[in-house]
Amino acid sequence: MRRRALLALCTLGTTALSAQSYTTGDPVIRKLYEAGMQQSQVGRLLQVLSDSIGPRLTGSPGHKSGNEWLAKTYASWGIAATNPTYGTWKSWRRGVSHIDLIAPRVRSLEGMTLAWSAGTGGRDVEGDVVILPEVADSAAFVAWLPQARGKFVLISMLQPTCRPDDNWERYATAESFARMRAERTEATTAWNRRLQRTGYGTGLGTGSLGVRLEQAGVAGVVASRWSNGWGVQKVFDAQTSQVPSLDIGCEDYGLLFRLAANNQGPRLRVRAQADFLGELPVANTVATIPGTSKPDEYVMLSAHFDSWDGGSGTTDNGTGTVIMMEAMRLLKQFYPNPKRTILVGHWGGEEQGLNGSRAFAADRPEVVRGLQALFNQDNGTGRIVNFSSGGLTTAAGNVAQWIAGIPSELTRGITLNFPGSPAGGGSDHASFGCSGAPAFGLGALDWSYGTYTWHTQRDTYDKAVLDDLRNNATLVAMLVYLASEDPETVSRDRRVFDRGSAAGGTAGGPPQATAWPDCQQPLRDSKGYRR
Ligand SMILES: [Zn+2]
Repeated sequence: MRRRALLALCTLGTTALSAQSYTTGDPVIRKLYEAGMQQSQVGRLLQVLSDSIGPRLTGSPGHKSGNEWLAKTYASWGIAATNPTYGTWKSWRRGVSHIDLIAPRVRSLEGMTLAWSAGTGGRDVEGDVVILPEVADSAAFVAWLPQARGKFVLISMLQPTCRPDDNWERYATAESFARMRAERTEATTAWNRRLQRTGYGTGLGTGSLGVRLEQAGVAGVVASRWSNGWGVQKVFDAQTSQVPSLDIGCEDYGLLFRLAANNQGPRLRVRAQADFLGELPVANTVATIPGTSKPDEYVMLSAHFDSWDGGSGTTDNGTGTVIMMEAMRLLKQFYPNPKRTILVGHWGGEEQGLNGSRAFAADRPEVVRGLQALFNQDNGTGRIVNFSSGGLTTAAGNVAQWIAGIPSELTRGITLNFPGSPAGGGSDHASFGCSGAPAFGLGALDWSYGTYTWHTQRDTYDKAVLDDLRNNATLVAMLVYLASEDPETVSRDRRVFDRGSAAGGTAGGPPQATAWPDCQQPLRDSKGYRR
Protein backbone atom coordinates (compact mmCIF):
# COMPACT_ATOMS: atom_id res chain seq x y z
CA MET A 1 0.00 0.00 0.00
CA ARG A 2 2.76 2.45 0.90
CA ARG A 3 4.57 1.92 -2.35
CA ARG A 4 1.39 2.56 -4.32
CA ALA A 5 0.63 5.69 -2.35
CA LEU A 6 4.13 6.96 -3.01
CA LEU A 7 3.81 6.34 -6.72
CA ALA A 8 0.50 8.16 -6.78
CA LEU A 9 2.15 11.18 -5.16
CA CYS A 10 5.06 11.10 -7.57
CA THR A 11 2.88 11.18 -10.64
CA LEU A 12 0.47 13.83 -9.36
CA GLY A 13 0.83 17.07 -11.22
CA THR A 14 2.97 15.68 -14.00
CA THR A 15 1.82 14.99 -17.51
CA ALA A 16 4.84 13.04 -18.68
CA LEU A 17 4.59 9.32 -18.07
CA SER A 18 7.61 8.03 -16.31
CA ALA A 19 9.24 5.05 -17.98
CA GLN A 20 10.97 4.30 -14.68
CA SER A 21 7.82 3.71 -12.69
CA TYR A 22 6.69 0.31 -13.90
CA THR A 23 6.99 -2.26 -11.23
CA THR A 24 7.58 -5.47 -13.13
CA GLY A 25 10.68 -7.02 -14.55
CA ASP A 26 8.89 -8.89 -17.36
CA PRO A 27 10.44 -7.65 -20.62
CA VAL A 28 7.22 -8.10 -22.64
CA ILE A 29 5.26 -6.07 -20.06
CA ARG A 30 7.96 -3.39 -20.20
CA LYS A 31 7.79 -3.14 -24.00
CA LEU A 32 3.99 -3.12 -24.02
CA TYR A 33 4.08 -0.35 -21.43
CA GLU A 34 6.56 1.80 -23.32
CA ALA A 35 4.92 1.45 -26.73
CA GLY A 36 1.37 1.59 -25.41
CA MET A 37 1.90 4.67 -23.29
CA GLN A 38 4.38 6.58 -25.45
CA GLN A 39 3.55 5.70 -29.07
CA SER A 40 -0.16 5.14 -28.81
CA GLN A 41 -2.25 5.11 -31.97
CA VAL A 42 -5.67 5.21 -30.28
CA GLY A 43 -6.27 8.87 -31.15
CA ARG A 44 -5.44 8.44 -34.82
CA LEU A 45 -7.60 5.32 -35.11
CA LEU A 46 -10.55 6.87 -33.28
CA GLN A 47 -10.45 10.03 -35.41
CA VAL A 48 -10.72 7.99 -38.62
CA LEU A 49 -13.48 5.82 -37.18
CA SER A 50 -15.54 8.67 -35.66
CA ASP A 51 -15.10 11.44 -38.20
CA SER A 52 -14.47 9.79 -41.55
CA ILE A 53 -16.38 6.49 -41.29
CA GLY A 54 -18.92 7.90 -38.82
CA PRO A 55 -21.79 6.01 -37.16
CA ARG A 56 -22.18 2.31 -37.84
CA LEU A 57 -25.85 1.51 -37.63
CA THR A 58 -26.32 -2.23 -38.04
CA GLY A 59 -26.61 -3.14 -41.71
CA SER A 60 -25.81 0.39 -42.94
CA PRO A 61 -23.14 1.25 -45.53
CA GLY A 62 -21.17 2.86 -42.66
CA HIS A 63 -21.09 -0.47 -40.80
CA LYS A 64 -19.90 -2.26 -43.93
CA SER A 65 -17.17 0.25 -44.81
CA GLY A 66 -16.13 0.14 -41.16
CA ASN A 67 -15.71 -3.65 -41.33
CA GLU A 68 -13.55 -3.18 -44.42
CA TRP A 69 -11.44 -0.53 -42.68
CA LEU A 70 -10.91 -2.85 -39.70
CA ALA A 71 -9.75 -5.73 -41.89
CA LYS A 72 -7.48 -3.46 -43.94
CA THR A 73 -5.95 -1.92 -40.81
CA TYR A 74 -5.22 -5.34 -39.31
CA ALA A 75 -3.68 -6.46 -42.61
CA SER A 76 -1.38 -3.41 -42.52
CA TRP A 77 -0.13 -4.64 -39.13
CA GLY A 78 0.44 -8.16 -40.46
CA ILE A 79 -2.57 -9.57 -38.59
CA ALA A 80 -4.95 -11.88 -40.49
CA ALA A 81 -8.55 -10.59 -40.36
CA THR A 82 -11.84 -11.66 -41.92
CA ASN A 83 -15.38 -10.26 -42.04
CA PRO A 84 -17.59 -13.33 -41.51
CA THR A 85 -21.25 -12.67 -42.35
CA TYR A 86 -23.62 -13.83 -39.61
CA GLY A 87 -26.93 -12.83 -41.14
CA THR A 88 -28.73 -9.95 -42.84
CA TRP A 89 -30.23 -6.68 -41.62
CA LYS A 90 -32.39 -3.87 -42.98
CA SER A 91 -29.89 -1.54 -44.65
CA TRP A 92 -30.59 2.19 -44.35
CA ARG A 93 -28.57 5.23 -45.35
CA ARG A 94 -29.15 8.58 -43.69
CA GLY A 95 -29.40 11.49 -46.12
CA VAL A 96 -29.48 15.26 -45.75
CA SER A 97 -32.27 16.57 -43.55
CA HIS A 98 -33.65 20.02 -42.69
CA ILE A 99 -36.33 20.79 -40.14
CA ASP A 100 -37.50 24.41 -40.24
CA LEU A 101 -40.11 26.34 -38.33
CA ILE A 102 -41.71 28.59 -40.97
CA ALA A 103 -44.59 30.11 -38.95
CA PRO A 104 -45.25 32.13 -36.84
CA ARG A 105 -41.55 32.95 -37.36
CA VAL A 106 -38.58 31.36 -39.01
CA ARG A 107 -36.10 29.18 -37.17
CA SER A 108 -34.09 26.19 -38.35
CA LEU A 109 -34.60 23.56 -35.67
CA GLU A 110 -32.14 21.22 -34.00
CA GLY A 111 -33.38 17.76 -34.85
CA MET A 112 -32.96 14.76 -37.09
CA THR A 113 -34.79 11.77 -38.44
CA LEU A 114 -34.57 8.68 -36.27
CA ALA A 115 -32.69 5.62 -37.52
CA TRP A 116 -34.54 3.70 -40.27
CA SER A 117 -36.98 6.61 -40.69
CA ALA A 118 -38.61 7.24 -44.05
CA GLY A 119 -37.61 10.44 -45.84
CA THR A 120 -39.81 12.92 -47.68
CA GLY A 121 -39.16 11.57 -51.18
CA GLY A 122 -36.88 14.38 -52.33
CA ARG A 123 -39.33 17.20 -51.68
CA ASP A 124 -40.24 19.71 -48.98
CA VAL A 125 -43.20 18.69 -46.84
CA GLU A 126 -45.05 21.46 -45.03
CA GLY A 127 -47.67 21.09 -42.34
CA ASP A 128 -49.17 22.56 -39.20
CA VAL A 129 -48.02 21.22 -35.84
CA VAL A 130 -50.54 19.62 -33.48
CA ILE A 131 -50.20 18.02 -30.09
CA LEU A 132 -51.40 14.48 -29.50
CA PRO A 133 -54.82 15.15 -27.94
CA GLU A 134 -56.08 14.07 -24.56
CA VAL A 135 -58.80 11.53 -25.35
CA ALA A 136 -61.12 9.40 -23.24
CA ASP A 137 -60.28 6.16 -24.98
CA SER A 138 -59.02 4.54 -28.16
CA ALA A 139 -62.33 5.07 -29.99
CA ALA A 140 -62.13 8.81 -29.32
CA PHE A 141 -58.53 8.80 -30.55
CA VAL A 142 -59.53 7.10 -33.80
CA ALA A 143 -62.38 9.64 -34.19
CA TRP A 144 -59.80 12.45 -33.86
CA LEU A 145 -57.34 11.01 -36.39
CA PRO A 146 -58.87 12.62 -39.54
CA GLN A 147 -57.95 16.02 -38.08
CA ALA A 148 -54.29 14.97 -38.03
CA ARG A 149 -54.12 14.41 -41.77
CA GLY A 150 -51.26 16.41 -43.36
CA LYS A 151 -50.03 17.62 -39.96
CA PHE A 152 -46.95 17.02 -37.84
CA VAL A 153 -48.00 15.39 -34.57
CA LEU A 154 -46.07 15.96 -31.33
CA ILE A 155 -46.04 12.74 -29.31
CA SER A 156 -43.66 13.58 -26.43
CA MET A 157 -44.40 15.56 -23.29
CA LEU A 158 -43.34 19.15 -22.83
CA GLN A 159 -40.33 19.24 -20.49
CA PRO A 160 -40.80 22.00 -17.93
CA THR A 161 -37.07 22.71 -18.13
CA CYS A 162 -34.19 21.74 -20.43
CA ARG A 163 -31.72 22.53 -17.65
CA PRO A 164 -30.22 19.41 -16.07
CA ASP A 165 -31.11 18.78 -12.43
CA ASP A 166 -27.57 19.46 -11.20
CA ASN A 167 -27.96 23.03 -12.51
CA TRP A 168 -31.20 23.45 -10.54
CA GLU A 169 -29.61 21.92 -7.53
CA ARG A 170 -26.82 24.46 -7.69
CA TYR A 171 -28.81 27.64 -8.29
CA ALA A 172 -32.47 27.17 -7.38
CA THR A 173 -33.90 27.62 -3.93
CA ALA A 174 -34.78 24.29 -2.39
CA GLU A 175 -38.46 25.23 -2.72
CA SER A 176 -38.37 26.04 -6.42
CA PHE A 177 -36.30 22.93 -7.23
CA ALA A 178 -38.85 20.83 -5.35
CA ARG A 179 -41.75 22.59 -7.14
CA MET A 180 -40.20 22.00 -10.57
CA ARG A 181 -39.68 18.34 -9.82
CA ALA A 182 -43.21 17.91 -8.55
CA GLU A 183 -44.59 19.62 -11.69
CA ARG A 184 -42.46 17.43 -13.89
CA THR A 185 -43.55 14.25 -12.14
CA GLU A 186 -47.18 15.25 -12.50
CA ALA A 187 -46.73 16.16 -16.18
CA THR A 188 -44.98 12.85 -16.85
CA THR A 189 -47.78 10.86 -15.24
CA ALA A 190 -50.41 12.83 -17.19
CA TRP A 191 -48.56 12.37 -20.47
CA ASN A 192 -48.16 8.64 -19.97
CA ARG A 193 -51.90 8.42 -19.31
CA ARG A 194 -52.55 10.40 -22.51
CA LEU A 195 -50.41 7.97 -24.52
CA GLN A 196 -52.05 4.97 -22.89
CA ARG A 197 -55.58 6.17 -23.67
CA THR A 198 -54.86 6.20 -27.43
CA GLY A 199 -54.76 2.42 -27.13
CA TYR A 200 -51.47 2.27 -29.03
CA GLY A 201 -47.98 1.59 -27.71
CA THR A 202 -44.90 3.73 -28.28
CA GLY A 203 -42.63 0.85 -29.33
CA LEU A 204 -41.90 -0.45 -32.81
CA GLY A 205 -44.25 -2.62 -34.81
CA THR A 206 -47.75 -2.69 -36.17
CA GLY A 207 -49.56 -1.83 -32.93
CA SER A 208 -47.56 1.33 -32.38
CA LEU A 209 -48.83 4.88 -32.19
CA GLY A 210 -46.45 5.92 -34.99
CA VAL A 211 -47.86 3.36 -37.40
CA ARG A 212 -51.46 4.37 -36.56
CA LEU A 213 -50.67 8.07 -37.15
CA GLU A 214 -48.96 7.21 -40.41
CA GLN A 215 -52.04 5.26 -41.55
CA ALA A 216 -54.12 8.36 -40.79
CA GLY A 217 -52.03 10.37 -43.25
CA VAL A 218 -49.99 12.59 -40.94
CA ALA A 219 -47.04 14.54 -42.44
CA GLY A 220 -44.68 13.24 -39.78
CA VAL A 221 -44.33 12.04 -36.20
CA VAL A 222 -42.35 14.36 -33.93
CA ALA A 223 -40.83 13.18 -30.66
CA SER A 224 -38.26 14.50 -28.22
CA ARG A 225 -36.31 12.07 -26.09
CA TRP A 226 -34.35 14.41 -23.89
CA SER A 227 -31.35 12.84 -22.17
CA ASN A 228 -31.51 15.08 -19.06
CA GLY A 229 -28.36 17.05 -19.85
CA TRP A 230 -27.51 20.24 -21.72
CA GLY A 231 -28.44 19.79 -25.38
CA VAL A 232 -28.52 15.99 -25.42
CA GLN A 233 -31.09 13.73 -27.03
CA LYS A 234 -31.32 9.96 -27.27
CA VAL A 235 -31.66 9.03 -30.92
CA PHE A 236 -33.10 5.54 -31.45
CA ASP A 237 -35.18 4.05 -34.24
CA ALA A 238 -38.28 5.26 -36.08
CA GLN A 239 -41.82 4.06 -35.40
CA THR A 240 -42.95 4.81 -38.94
CA SER A 241 -42.06 3.39 -42.35
CA GLN A 242 -43.79 5.80 -44.78
CA VAL A 243 -43.49 9.26 -43.23
CA PRO A 244 -40.58 10.78 -41.28
CA SER A 245 -40.10 10.10 -37.57
CA LEU A 246 -38.22 13.05 -36.12
CA ASP A 247 -36.48 13.75 -32.84
CA ILE A 248 -36.26 17.45 -32.00
CA GLY A 249 -34.00 18.81 -29.27
CA CYS A 250 -35.53 19.68 -25.90
CA GLU A 251 -35.49 23.47 -26.44
CA ASP A 252 -36.88 23.49 -29.98
CA TYR A 253 -39.45 20.84 -29.16
CA GLY A 254 -40.61 22.99 -26.24
CA LEU A 255 -40.93 25.93 -28.61
CA LEU A 256 -43.14 23.92 -31.01
CA PHE A 257 -45.22 22.53 -28.17
CA ARG A 258 -45.88 25.89 -26.52
CA LEU A 259 -46.73 27.54 -29.86
CA ALA A 260 -49.23 24.78 -30.58
CA ALA A 261 -50.67 24.76 -27.05
CA ASN A 262 -51.24 28.51 -27.24
CA ASN A 263 -52.78 28.43 -30.75
CA GLN A 264 -49.94 30.49 -32.21
CA GLY A 265 -49.94 28.60 -35.49
CA PRO A 266 -46.65 26.66 -35.66
CA ARG A 267 -45.89 25.29 -39.10
CA LEU A 268 -42.96 23.06 -40.13
CA ARG A 269 -41.16 22.49 -43.38
CA VAL A 270 -39.24 19.22 -43.48
CA ARG A 271 -36.97 17.83 -46.15
CA ALA A 272 -35.36 14.50 -45.32
CA GLN A 273 -33.46 12.08 -47.49
CA ALA A 274 -33.27 8.39 -46.59
CA ASP A 275 -32.39 5.37 -48.68
CA PHE A 276 -33.63 1.87 -47.92
CA LEU A 277 -31.16 -0.50 -49.54
CA GLY A 278 -32.89 -3.78 -48.72
CA GLU A 279 -32.09 -6.66 -46.39
CA LEU A 280 -28.30 -6.97 -46.79
CA PRO A 281 -25.54 -9.19 -45.32
CA VAL A 282 -24.12 -8.00 -41.99
CA ALA A 283 -20.76 -9.11 -40.59
CA ASN A 284 -18.45 -9.21 -37.62
CA THR A 285 -14.74 -8.55 -38.02
CA VAL A 286 -12.49 -11.21 -36.50
CA ALA A 287 -8.68 -11.03 -36.42
CA THR A 288 -6.31 -13.74 -35.23
CA ILE A 289 -2.77 -14.16 -33.95
CA PRO A 290 -2.33 -17.96 -33.96
CA GLY A 291 -1.20 -19.72 -30.81
CA THR A 292 1.93 -21.85 -30.76
CA SER A 293 1.91 -24.45 -27.95
CA LYS A 294 -1.84 -24.28 -27.14
CA PRO A 295 -3.47 -23.17 -30.41
CA ASP A 296 -6.84 -24.67 -29.43
CA GLU A 297 -7.15 -22.43 -26.41
CA TYR A 298 -8.21 -18.83 -26.98
CA VAL A 299 -7.77 -15.45 -25.38
CA MET A 300 -10.25 -12.99 -26.84
CA LEU A 301 -10.56 -9.24 -27.09
CA SER A 302 -14.14 -8.12 -27.60
CA ALA A 303 -16.01 -4.89 -28.34
CA HIS A 304 -19.09 -4.25 -30.41
CA PHE A 305 -18.56 -2.26 -33.57
CA ASP A 306 -22.09 -1.19 -34.48
CA SER A 307 -23.57 2.01 -33.09
CA TRP A 308 -26.67 4.13 -33.08
CA ASP A 309 -26.83 6.81 -35.72
CA GLY A 310 -27.43 10.12 -33.91
CA GLY A 311 -23.74 10.94 -33.37
CA SER A 312 -20.50 9.30 -34.44
CA GLY A 313 -20.70 6.27 -32.14
CA THR A 314 -17.46 7.43 -30.49
CA THR A 315 -17.94 6.27 -26.90
CA ASP A 316 -20.46 3.54 -27.84
CA ASN A 317 -18.43 1.84 -28.89
CA GLY A 318 -15.68 3.44 -30.95
CA THR A 319 -13.57 3.68 -27.80
CA GLY A 320 -13.88 -0.03 -26.99
CA THR A 321 -13.13 -0.74 -30.64
CA VAL A 322 -9.87 1.20 -30.78
CA ILE A 323 -8.72 -0.11 -27.38
CA MET A 324 -8.94 -3.64 -28.78
CA MET A 325 -7.34 -2.66 -32.11
CA GLU A 326 -4.44 -0.94 -30.37
CA ALA A 327 -3.98 -3.87 -27.96
CA MET A 328 -3.80 -6.22 -30.97
CA ARG A 329 -1.25 -3.96 -32.67
CA LEU A 330 0.91 -3.97 -29.53
CA LEU A 331 0.58 -7.73 -29.06
CA LYS A 332 1.53 -8.47 -32.66
CA GLN A 333 4.63 -6.31 -32.24
CA PHE A 334 5.86 -7.54 -28.84
CA TYR A 335 4.20 -10.94 -28.42
CA PRO A 336 3.96 -12.27 -31.98
CA ASN A 337 4.06 -15.98 -31.09
CA PRO A 338 1.54 -16.36 -28.28
CA LYS A 339 1.17 -19.59 -26.35
CA ARG A 340 -2.62 -19.56 -26.90
CA THR A 341 -4.49 -18.21 -29.95
CA ILE A 342 -5.39 -14.53 -29.63
CA LEU A 343 -8.66 -13.50 -31.29
CA VAL A 344 -10.39 -10.15 -31.48
CA GLY A 345 -14.11 -9.87 -32.19
CA HIS A 346 -15.62 -6.59 -33.44
CA TRP A 347 -19.31 -7.42 -33.23
CA GLY A 348 -22.22 -6.23 -35.37
CA GLY A 349 -25.79 -5.92 -34.16
CA GLU A 350 -25.08 -5.50 -30.44
CA GLU A 351 -27.61 -2.69 -30.14
CA GLN A 352 -30.39 -4.94 -31.42
CA GLY A 353 -29.62 -7.78 -28.98
CA LEU A 354 -25.94 -8.91 -29.03
CA ASN A 355 -26.64 -10.56 -32.39
CA GLY A 356 -23.09 -10.57 -33.81
CA SER A 357 -21.45 -12.04 -30.71
CA ARG A 358 -24.27 -14.54 -30.08
CA ALA A 359 -23.94 -15.71 -33.68
CA PHE A 360 -20.16 -16.06 -33.33
CA ALA A 361 -20.58 -18.10 -30.14
CA ALA A 362 -23.08 -20.34 -31.96
CA ASP A 363 -20.99 -20.63 -35.14
CA ARG A 364 -17.61 -21.18 -33.45
CA PRO A 365 -18.33 -23.61 -30.57
CA GLU A 366 -14.67 -24.71 -30.50
CA VAL A 367 -13.68 -21.17 -29.49
CA VAL A 368 -16.23 -21.06 -26.65
CA ARG A 369 -15.07 -24.52 -25.52
CA GLY A 370 -11.40 -23.52 -25.61
CA LEU A 371 -11.85 -20.02 -24.18
CA GLN A 372 -9.16 -19.17 -21.62
CA ALA A 373 -10.43 -15.61 -21.13
CA LEU A 374 -12.41 -12.94 -22.95
CA PHE A 375 -12.15 -9.22 -22.19
CA ASN A 376 -15.02 -7.00 -23.35
CA GLN A 377 -15.29 -3.23 -23.01
CA ASP A 378 -18.43 -1.25 -23.75
CA ASN A 379 -19.22 1.60 -21.39
CA GLY A 380 -17.43 4.65 -22.61
CA THR A 381 -14.11 6.40 -22.74
CA GLY A 382 -12.98 6.33 -19.10
CA ARG A 383 -10.17 4.49 -17.37
CA ILE A 384 -11.00 0.90 -16.57
CA VAL A 385 -11.87 0.88 -12.86
CA ASN A 386 -14.07 -2.17 -12.35
CA PHE A 387 -13.23 -5.77 -12.90
CA SER A 388 -14.94 -8.92 -11.73
CA SER A 389 -14.38 -12.59 -12.42
CA GLY A 390 -17.88 -12.85 -13.90
CA GLY A 391 -19.28 -15.22 -11.29
CA LEU A 392 -16.41 -17.71 -11.64
CA THR A 393 -14.84 -18.61 -8.32
CA THR A 394 -11.54 -20.36 -9.08
CA ALA A 395 -10.95 -17.99 -12.02
CA ALA A 396 -10.79 -15.14 -9.52
CA GLY A 397 -7.34 -16.42 -8.55
CA ASN A 398 -6.09 -16.29 -12.15
CA VAL A 399 -7.51 -12.81 -12.67
CA ALA A 400 -5.90 -11.59 -9.44
CA GLN A 401 -2.57 -12.90 -10.62
CA TRP A 402 -2.80 -11.19 -14.00
CA ILE A 403 -3.67 -7.90 -12.32
CA ALA A 404 -0.70 -8.34 -9.97
CA GLY A 405 1.62 -8.70 -12.98
CA ILE A 406 0.61 -5.31 -14.41
CA PRO A 407 2.28 -2.00 -13.44
CA SER A 408 0.40 -0.20 -10.71
CA GLU A 409 0.05 2.92 -12.88
CA LEU A 410 -2.53 0.95 -14.85
CA THR A 411 -4.21 -0.99 -12.07
CA ARG A 412 -4.45 1.48 -9.18
CA GLY A 413 -8.01 2.64 -8.90
CA ILE A 414 -9.38 -0.69 -10.13
CA THR A 415 -12.02 -2.18 -7.84
CA LEU A 416 -11.88 -5.96 -7.99
CA ASN A 417 -15.10 -7.81 -7.35
CA PHE A 418 -14.62 -11.54 -6.85
CA PRO A 419 -16.43 -13.61 -7.88
CA GLY A 420 -18.95 -10.98 -9.06
CA SER A 421 -21.85 -12.08 -11.23
CA PRO A 422 -22.19 -13.29 -14.82
CA ALA A 423 -23.44 -10.63 -17.27
CA GLY A 424 -27.15 -10.94 -17.95
CA GLY A 425 -27.09 -9.37 -21.41
CA GLY A 426 -25.86 -5.77 -21.18
CA SER A 427 -22.98 -6.35 -23.57
CA ASP A 428 -21.22 -8.99 -25.61
CA HIS A 429 -19.33 -10.87 -22.87
CA ALA A 430 -22.79 -12.18 -21.91
CA SER A 431 -22.84 -14.16 -25.18
CA PHE A 432 -19.88 -16.21 -23.88
CA GLY A 433 -20.36 -16.07 -20.12
CA CYS A 434 -23.82 -17.63 -20.47
CA SER A 435 -22.25 -21.00 -21.28
CA GLY A 436 -19.86 -20.70 -18.35
CA ALA A 437 -16.82 -19.58 -20.35
CA PRO A 438 -14.50 -17.08 -18.62
CA ALA A 439 -15.78 -13.81 -20.09
CA PHE A 440 -15.03 -10.56 -18.30
CA GLY A 441 -16.49 -7.09 -18.68
CA LEU A 442 -14.06 -4.23 -18.15
CA GLY A 443 -15.94 -1.38 -16.48
CA ALA A 444 -14.84 2.16 -17.27
CA LEU A 445 -15.03 5.36 -15.23
CA ASP A 446 -18.33 7.11 -15.92
CA TRP A 447 -17.49 10.47 -17.59
CA SER A 448 -21.29 11.16 -17.66
CA TYR A 449 -21.69 8.39 -20.22
CA GLY A 450 -25.35 7.60 -19.51
CA THR A 451 -26.52 11.20 -19.80
CA TYR A 452 -24.22 12.79 -22.35
CA THR A 453 -22.88 10.27 -24.84
CA TRP A 454 -24.68 6.90 -24.63
CA HIS A 455 -26.99 6.76 -27.68
CA THR A 456 -27.00 10.56 -28.02
CA GLN A 457 -26.35 12.92 -30.90
CA ARG A 458 -23.33 14.26 -28.94
CA ASP A 459 -21.42 10.97 -29.00
CA THR A 460 -18.59 12.51 -31.00
CA TYR A 461 -14.80 12.43 -31.21
CA ASP A 462 -14.26 15.37 -28.86
CA LYS A 463 -15.75 13.33 -25.97
CA ALA A 464 -12.92 10.80 -26.10
CA VAL A 465 -10.31 11.00 -23.33
CA LEU A 466 -7.19 9.83 -25.09
CA ASP A 467 -5.06 9.42 -21.95
CA ASP A 468 -7.64 7.00 -20.55
CA LEU A 469 -7.87 5.10 -23.84
CA ARG A 470 -4.09 4.75 -24.05
CA ASN A 471 -4.14 3.42 -20.49
CA ASN A 472 -6.93 0.96 -21.32
CA ALA A 473 -5.35 -0.37 -24.52
CA THR A 474 -2.07 -1.01 -22.71
CA LEU A 475 -3.92 -2.68 -19.83
CA VAL A 476 -5.87 -4.95 -22.20
CA ALA A 477 -2.72 -5.93 -24.10
CA MET A 478 -1.11 -6.94 -20.80
CA LEU A 479 -4.17 -8.87 -19.58
CA VAL A 480 -4.27 -10.79 -22.87
CA TYR A 481 -0.54 -11.50 -22.70
CA LEU A 482 -0.73 -12.74 -19.11
CA ALA A 483 -3.88 -14.83 -19.72
CA SER A 484 -2.22 -16.38 -22.76
CA GLU A 485 0.95 -17.22 -20.82
CA ASP A 486 -0.87 -18.50 -17.72
CA PRO A 487 0.37 -22.05 -16.95
CA GLU A 488 -3.17 -22.93 -15.82
CA THR A 489 -6.21 -23.28 -18.01
CA VAL A 490 -8.85 -21.11 -16.32
CA SER A 491 -11.39 -23.15 -14.41
CA ARG A 492 -15.12 -22.70 -15.00
CA ASP A 493 -16.22 -23.30 -11.41
CA ARG A 494 -19.31 -21.21 -10.84
CA ARG A 495 -20.47 -19.32 -7.81
CA VAL A 496 -23.49 -20.54 -5.92
CA PHE A 497 -26.48 -18.24 -5.84
CA ASP A 498 -28.23 -17.74 -2.56
CA ARG A 499 -31.70 -17.27 -3.98
CA GLY A 500 -33.22 -16.18 -0.71
CA SER A 501 -30.99 -13.24 0.05
CA ALA A 502 -29.92 -12.22 -3.47
CA ALA A 503 -33.32 -11.88 -5.08
CA GLY A 504 -33.77 -8.21 -4.31
CA GLY A 505 -30.12 -7.24 -4.46
CA THR A 506 -28.17 -5.64 -1.66
CA ALA A 507 -29.39 -2.32 -0.34
CA GLY A 508 -28.31 0.43 -2.72
CA GLY A 509 -26.52 -1.98 -5.04
CA PRO A 510 -27.48 -3.28 -8.47
CA PRO A 511 -29.98 -6.14 -8.66
CA GLN A 512 -28.16 -9.42 -8.30
CA ALA A 513 -28.55 -12.41 -10.56
CA THR A 514 -30.36 -15.28 -8.90
CA ALA A 515 -29.28 -17.97 -11.34
CA TRP A 516 -26.78 -18.43 -14.13
CA PRO A 517 -28.25 -16.75 -17.25
CA ASP A 518 -29.29 -18.88 -20.23
CA CYS A 519 -27.72 -18.41 -23.67
CA GLN A 520 -30.02 -16.66 -26.17
CA GLN A 521 -30.27 -17.27 -29.88
CA PRO A 522 -29.13 -14.41 -32.16
CA LEU A 523 -31.48 -12.73 -34.62
CA ARG A 524 -30.07 -13.61 -38.04
CA ASP A 525 -32.25 -11.09 -39.90
CA SER A 526 -34.27 -7.96 -39.11
CA LYS A 527 -37.73 -9.40 -39.83
CA GLY A 528 -38.47 -10.48 -36.28
CA TYR A 529 -36.93 -7.41 -34.65
CA ARG A 530 -39.07 -5.45 -32.19
CA ARG A 531 -37.48 -3.18 -29.66
ZN1 LIG B 1 -22.42 -0.28 -26.48
